[in-house]
Formats: sequence, C-alpha cells, structure tokens
Amino acid sequence: MKPLKLLNRISILLTLTFLVMQPAAAQDWTYPCGTGDAPRANLDYISQLRANGVFDHLNVEQVGNTIFLPVKFHVIGSNTGTGYFTHEGIFRNLCELNQKYNSLGIQFFMRGDINYIPNSSMTNLPSFEAAGVLNTQHNVARVINIYYTGLSALSLCGFANFPGTGEPQSPSNRQGAIYLSPSCSGAGNSTWTHEMGHFLNLPHPFQNTSEAPQQHERVTRITETPPRLSANCADAGDRFCDTEADFRGDRWNCPGFNSTVRDINQDLFLPNGTLYMSYSDDNCQTTFSPEQIAAMRATLTFTPGPGGSTVPGPRMYLLSPPMPAYDTIIGTANVVEPANNSTGHPANWVVFRWNRVPGATMYALRIRRNFTLMEEILVNSADTVYTYTGTKLSANVPYRISVMPLNHKVTCRPYSTEITFTTTTPFGVGIDEESAQSWNVYPSLLQSDADLHLQFATRSTDPVDIRLTDGMGRLVRAETMNMDDNGLIRLNSGGLPNGLYLLSAQTGAQTYTRRVVVNR
Ligand SMILES: [Zn+2]
Repeated sequence: MKPLKLLNRISILLTLTFLVMQPAAAQDWTYPCGTGDAPRANLDYISQLRANGVFDHLNVEQVGNTIFLPVKFHVIGSNTGTGYFTHEGIFRNLCELNQKYNSLGIQFFMRGDINYIPNSSMTNLPSFEAAGVLNTQHNVARVINIYYTGLSALSLCGFANFPGTGEPQSPSNRQGAIYLSPSCSGAGNSTWTHEMGHFLNLPHPFQNTSEAPQQHERVTRITETPPRLSANCADAGDRFCDTEADFRGDRWNCPGFNSTVRDINQDLFLPNGTLYMSYSDDNCQTTFSPEQIAAMRATLTFTPGPGGSTVPGPRMYLLSPPMPAYDTIIGTANVVEPANNSTGHPANWVVFRWNRVPGATMYALRIRRNFTLMEEILVNSADTVYTYTGTKLSANVPYRISVMPLNHKVTCRPYSTEITFTTTTPFGVGIDEESAQSWNVYPSLLQSDADLHLQFATRSTDPVDIRLTDGMGRLVRAETMNMDDNGLIRLNSGGLPNGLYLLSAQTGAQTYTRRVVVNR
C-alpha cells in the first residue's frame, strides 16, 4: 500500500470524527498517520503573536526562566488489572520528555499518583469519542492529562488536543488530553514530545501544504519579483517562518532526503527533518524552532497584545498552583535485603530493604524472572522497606529485584544493580480458606495501630485463647479473652513489629487460624 493512500484513508476517518475531538496527531514506525490540522483559532493565535511582536525578541532571557508543568498519568488496563503500561516505561518517558524540553525552559512533573483504570473495552481505544468519554470521566483540572492505552485500532501512536479543543468542553482547565500508545513510548521515542507540542498549540509544519503543495506554504522566505510569488509563511502552513515549508504528511527518513516536489514558484521543498513536529523518523528529530518555542511558552504566560494590552495564554491555568519544592536526587539505591543469592524466601512473603537516597520521596521496585517483568511496586513514601505479600511469585524460582529512587519531578535515576533471591513454598497456604466460613479477622493488613477485630460466626460464652506467632514460628502474644454479645473480640495490635503473623483462636474444641500482616 502506498503511504499516501493510507494517509488519505486515515484523513477520511479523522474527518468524520473531527467535530467530536479534533485529534491532533500521530506518528508511528509502521503507519504514517496524518491528522488534525490545527483549527483556525489556533492558527490565528500564532499570527497574533507575530503581529504583536512576540517573535521579535526571541527570548533567550525567557527561556532562562523555567516553566514547570504538572502532568497526571492515567493508565488503562483490563478489567482484572492486567496489561498496564509499566512504571519503568512511564518514568523513562517522563525523563526523556524533560531532557528534550530542557533547552526550552519547560519542564514537567507528576501531580498526584498514577491513576489506574481497569477497563477492558478501552485497552485498545476504539474511537476518538471513547477518548472523549474517558476525558470526561477522569480528567483532572489544572494538569496535563496523559492517557496510556493501545491505539492500534486507530493506527495511531498518539494524539493530542490543541488548546480550546477536546472533551470535556468545560471547564477549560480540564479540557483535552494527550493519548499515547505504550508501544510508541519506548526509549528514544519522541511521540510524547511531538504530542506535547500540539497540546501547547504547535501545528504540523506540513499543515495544509502536504494536501496541496502548490497552494499553501511556499519555500521562499523573501519578497520576490513577479512572476514569482513572495513568502507567505506568516499566513500559510503552520504560520511559522523559521520552519521550512514541508510537504511530507507521511513518515519519512531524514538523511539523504531528495525532494522532487516543488511549490508554486517551482522551488524544491526541503522540509526540516530535525523538527519534532515533522513526521520524520524519531531518530531524526532533535529540535523545535525558536518561533515554535516562543509560541509554546506564550501559551503559558501573558504576552503583549494590541494597544498595550496583555493576552493570557490558553494554557496558563497549568501554572497554578505552582510546583511544590522537590529536591534533586543524589546517588543511586542499593538493595540490602534479601541478601544476594539468598534462598528460602516464602513466595508470598519477602521483605525488601534498600538504602535511603537523598531527595527521593518514592521508590520503584522491580521484580524480574530472567528478563521478564513479574511485578512492579511503587513505594509511595520515603520508606526503605517493603514486605511483599502478593501472589505473582512461584515457589523455588530465582527472581531478581532492583529499586529506583524518584520523586514527582526527578524520574531519571537508574535502577539499582539487580540482586537474586530464590523463593520457597508460600507461607500459610490454605489456612485462610479453611476457616473462612466460621470467623473473620479484619483488617488483615494492619497499617496503623488499629485494633484487630475477630468476628466469630457463632457467639460463645467460653473463653477464647488467642495466640500470635511470627513468621519464624515464635509466640509473640498470648491472651485469653471473651467475645462480646455480637461474637466480636477486639485485640490491641500496638507494639507488634512489622511482619507476617499467624493468628490462632481456640475456644472449646474449635481452633481458628488466620494470616495477619503488620506493615505500618
Ligand atoms: Zn502530530
């Protein structure tokens, strides 16, 4: 299939949905996807910036003043909570975005926790309308809402909304989003960088021109002598005069590019493949133009308007409240427990411990079997210990654990050297199931000094002998108590160290047992 045919087909699809979402973009190694011309209002905004002199003083001093923008991650998986894009991928993606925007004086940080959305019908986004529904349900105000989900049904790597477009229509401070396919969000991929450009009002450099190369932006940048036509870069294409006229609305590889396509003056198009907003391959893309940078920054601040007025940028709402103070992160983490090559860890009970890293407020744990990711855990505090009590590890298997320090602003630190530990039979398997009918213990995970509640199905006036033993089988508490009129016993949990316990309760000839985890 010729790329242009595919492009046309997708353009038709997008035309049908244009009024709903006005999707902005996509790029993919496999599918050349053209989409969403910037609406007239967004082009006029750029023209007004030029008319009001914003591009005249291209703003080295402005760039020195870094703008911090909050992002909120929404990650879509199946109804049973599988298939989510990984922590590792999300944090690397944010790290690389910050590296690419660093010279622009724009940086991004996470606001709030990652929002996991179990919804099988959205793991491969069926339509732009579906994105509008997700936005309306989940968008958070005053952040850049980022959704990671499969986009292959739309043949897209990503898409974004220009300012003033997308769902929900109001309030404007939670309108629109950026959608990214995990398969186009790997190391070195510039999809997010490109989509962020759209979100901050940048059109494609080939806007309109790719559809009719003779009728839109001309190659020349000067006032010409007839019959040649003069430069129209300020009023055609992407409205920028420092992005070369571009006719390539499909994927292209930049080195050795030999254009044979000419504009109305018979000048050869020589599009700039180093621009992130072009459709050149990701490994070509390294830059935004000065006017593009000025336009993005303008959307985030006040700019001079006509007659001495000031014009608020359409994304200024992202600047308040400001970013909290975050430290830089110095050093890397090391796993100190389990010991490397240690054995005998119950598959459902492994204590991980690592050294504290200055500046880190979170730690991302990664458990792999060989190179297959088994489990990711985000310890959302400065704690340096985590007790794994999950079900994804098997007995008698060597696993590898590593840890990455991070905070909401710094996600570029490497994972630690992996250490290997080998599991054994899970601890206490089957106990919970045996006695589930006759009593209940809650909470089974103690994260505070709350009482343990022992609720018996049948109330008895006999005394109850209660025993707590730790993971090593040592008795740590023994008490005799009586049920209240409702068959309930409240057991003070104060003073119990973190760990896994077996709780047993004996009354008459009946013995009940249950696992309890303390992880305060
Ligand atoms: Zn695009």
